[in-house]
Amino acid sequence: MISYIIMPRILDTSAVVPVIAELVKKACYELDDNFMGALREAIKKEESPYGRDTLQLLIDNAEYAKAEQIACCHDTGTCVVIMEIGQEISWTGEPLFDAVNAGVRRGYDEGYLRKSMVRDPLDRVNTGDNTPAVFHPEIVAGDKVHITVMPKGGGSENMGAFSTLVPAVGAEGVKDFVLKTVEDAGGKTCPPIIVGVGVGGTMDWCSWIAKKALLRPIGERSPNPFYAAMEEELLEKINNMGIGPLGMGGRITALDVHIEYYPCHITALPVAVNLQCHASRRAEAVI
Ligand code: SF4
Repeated sequence: MISYIIMPRILDTSAVVPVIAELVKKACYELDDNFMGALREAIKKEESPYGRDTLQLLIDNAEYAKAEQIACCHDTGTCVVIMEIGQEISWTGEPLFDAVNAGVRRGYDEGYLRKSMVRDPLDRVNTGDNTPAVFHPEIVAGDKVHITVMPKGGGSENMGAFSTLVPAVGAEGVKDFVLKTVEDAGGKTCPPIIVGVGVGGTMDWCSWIAKKALLRPIGERSPNPFYAAMEEELLEKINNMGIGPLGMGGRITALDVHIEYYPCHITALPVAVNLQCHASRRAEAVI
């Protein structure tokens, strides 16, 4: 019998520090082409003159930030770092989370980006360097590391919601919860927003998949036709609410709705809504 030994790829955790630092700056300075394209398309659909003017201002602001390499919004957020780690990698060096925070610290410092993290939610003392990050490591196949940095603004994050619904309410109950969350948020999320929805799992997993849903490109539907149809229906209903760009009134409140789902316990129907504002920042790299 022949047995094969697969050699792991050895990677020092210090390798992620400069990558994360650059991704922090890129994300805060440059909204990606998918999002900018969606804003430009939204102007064509917006019926309200105020709404159109507001969308144009948001586009001008984002273009200026990119050209000048400055933050597109003063709130440069909690730094969410998502890392898909190939299971063939063997790490050396300092703990990975310390390296992630070192990258975040360097990026916010070099990029002159606002530091918004407090060390304790009740004593409110600023940590001074925007650490710690909110770090989501995931183990995947292969020997690569896919890093996504998503600075998440306070206004939109604050208006997210979670509930464990009674399973009997079914899809209608989920839709009502999503619509109520968006309506209650109104203009506080700095629309146009992306609506990330998690259905199923446990309380923690449901909220995580709602956030992950925000990473899906605008215009890409769920591969499950049932959820794809629900996304379309929710998007139409949200854009009939009249909240409009920056809450100034108008048609375009959301650019898209993305639903992710996961199996769950027989007694439960968890649903989470995570909202992303018009400063939809994300940048990614593979090492
Ligand atoms: S919600 Fe978004 S756009 Fe509004 S202030 Fe916060 S980060 Fe900026």
